[in-house]
Amino acid sequence: MSSEQVPLSAAALDAADPLASLRDTFSIPSGVIYLDGNSLGALQKGIAERIDRVVKQQWGEGLIRSWNDTDWYEMPMRVGDRIAPLIGAGAGEVVVGDSTSVSLFRVVAAGLGLQPSRNVIVTERGNFPSDLYILEGLQGLRPNLEIRQAAAGQDPAELLDERTALLVLTQVDYKSGLIRDMKRLTDAARTAGALAVWDLSHSTGIIPVELNASGADFAIGCGYKYLNGGPGAPSYTWVAPRLVGRVAQPLAGWLGHKDPFAFTPEYVPAPGIRRFITGTQQVLSLAALDEAMKIWEKISIAQVRAKSTLQTNRFIAQVEARCEGLGLTLASPREAAVRGGQVSFTHEQGYAVMQALIARGVIGDFRAPNLLRFGFSPLYLSFAEIDRAVDALAEILTARSWDDPRFTEKRRVT
Ligand SMILES: *Cc1c(COP(=O)(O)O)cnc(C)c1O
Repeated sequence: MSSEQVPLSAAALDAADPLASLRDTFSIPSGVIYLDGNSLGALQKGIAERIDRVVKQQWGEGLIRSWNDTDWYEMPMRVGDRIAPLIGAGAGEVVVGDSTSVSLFRVVAAGLGLQPSRNVIVTERGNFPSDLYILEGLQGLRPNLEIRQAAAGQDPAELLDERTALLVLTQVDYKSGLIRDMKRLTDAARTAGALAVWDLSHSTGIIPVELNASGADFAIGCGYKYLNGGPGAPSYTWVAPRLVGRVAQPLAGWLGHKDPFAFTPEYVPAPGIRRFITGTQQVLSLAALDEAMKIWEKISIAQVRAKSTLQTNRFIAQVEARCEGLGLTLASPREAAVRGGQVSFTHEQGYAVMQALIARGVIGDFRAPNLLRFGFSPLYLSFAEIDRAVDALAEILTARSWDDPRFTEKRRVT
């Protein structure tokens, strides 16, 4: 073996990690190795103080005066400006509010409105279920709408044709972590005369995203995963600047109006992305997300992606070396270039194995029917922790300690 092939020790990798010091800005309980930042990002230390200030001073003392005296009114756009550089969007192009599902409804309906002579949406069967449900809900409102779902392993581009209004895809698959080629698929949609809508929930904050450069038309994504905005953090919405001035969204509300405080009975949309606001923004949740996003003032997505790749590669290599013959099969791409920030393995007893891991403080999650899912947030995860997580997994599988009624009983949230 040449010296380059000798795997580096976790200690050496941690010593050379330019992001290592960020760990101290998070409050992660001792004894926990957190491998679920792709599902609910961890808490940063400044957030509790920020929320406390917004509640006690701005709300408690300022009362309604705070709508003018603080930045409450501008928050959906200001937090959007913090997210924009991570997704290849410009200042003033992103707005934040409501859940991802609701934001998806708005952009898909807006996109359909631009394509009155077409009635097909192309997506994939394996898309995040909420995204499929939202499309079905729209179908209930527009009965002639047809939804085509690419089967597992099928290229969604094959389903595009002259009747296709929209291609609606999630860039990084929530189960496998496979990264879809945004540029290629957006180009394919354009060639067919369709518009491309991207869900960036498992992309933003973990892989570089280039919305403007790839020619995308609409994008939305989640605030509580790699962005660490907290449980139920609001989502973000982007519409290509060339389209935003002529789209109508179906949940038009007063705060997306050009002049909300004119209180006119006629709706006139705000000129830009602000028209995608419906009602009053979630000020407390926006404050948490705003605070969480400050970390990006110090780091770049390229640094995060570089560390993420090292971490997921290491996890796969170690699990495969140490858990051979113990029933695990890699369910994520082996090639790092098309793998996002998570690694999934199947195991027949996946649920129980994950419960046994969680009981040991190694927190990942389980996705039916048999998937163990591990998310790696480079902002707060060390290489030493990855090695310790593999130790725990190997021990649980070798000793079959998952085979215990404590671990097999299903709980509501997996
Ligand atoms: C997490 C996730 C969502 C979450 O939607 P909410 O409505 O914010 O709960 C939607 N789509 C995808 C692809 C996701 O991964």
